Amino acid sequence: MIRTVLQYVAVCWLVILAGCAARQVAIESDTFQYVETDTGRWLVHDVNRPAPAVVSPGTASTQSESGKAPSDAIVLFDGTDLSAWTSGRGGPAEWTVRDGYMEVVKGLDSLMTRQAFGSCQLHIEFASPSNVTGSGQDRGNSGVFLMSNYEVQVLDSYENPVYPDGQCAALYGRAVPLVNACRKPGEWQSYDIIFHRPVFEGEKVARKATFTVLHNGVLVHDNVQLEGSTYWVNEHRVTEYEPHEDKLPLMLQDHGSPVRYRNVWIREIAD
Ligand code: MG
Repeated sequence: MIRTVLQYVAVCWLVILAGCAARQVAIESDTFQYVETDTGRWLVHDVNRPAPAVVSPGTASTQSESGKAPSDAIVLFDGTDLSAWTSGRGGPAEWTVRDGYMEVVKGLDSLMTRQAFGSCQLHIEFASPSNVTGSGQDRGNSGVFLMSNYEVQVLDSYENPVYPDGQCAALYGRAVPLVNACRKPGEWQSYDIIFHRPVFEGEKVARKATFTVLHNGVLVHDNVQLEGSTYWVNEHRVTEYEPHEDKLPLMLQDHGSPVRYRNVWIREIAD
């Protein structure tokens, strides 16, 4: 008799726990975002979404890669010092500077430019660590955040599968690059970014941001409209637009990986 009662109680608890788990999933999935694309309807950060084709960038690159900035550009890093930058937590920028590059130092926070920018043309070169560790988002993760909000993902996506809207050159959680034009870990790569800022009227977005991005000289975003902001909220959701100033600092992300940057310059353009 006692055994039967205990079995009954155990079954009741299992049913209750299962119910809680189901409700938890339902609550969480209510917050997931989906996106309609040419390849179907996908969750944000969906590992099943088709990955873009891998292409070798060859030696294609922009003329200015590892060269001199245009005469009318604002040079944000010329290989010598971090005077154009501050730490994201306030105070001076403290990343390592050596041999013409700056390198993320885990825990010293992201870097932000002292000057604020809106719509712009940005050139930046980066290299993921040649000492490959981790996988997925834990391999060479950093990011170039226009206006501190809109991330062009930096990741070692050379033979490192990950959800395609979070791979290298993705507009994080918002747009998959047209192709994967990554170079090998440790090799210098470039982004050339044409960014038009979002325009807000009160609490509303009057005009969404747009991105055109070349990765190692290869077009990966062709005047793509950004549907919202790009910060991680949960495994299938990123942040929405929130009204902000017309100009905000450019930010380079400390995501814990010793990613290197060099030759960073920017030109302000009309909205
Ligand atoms: Mg990142």
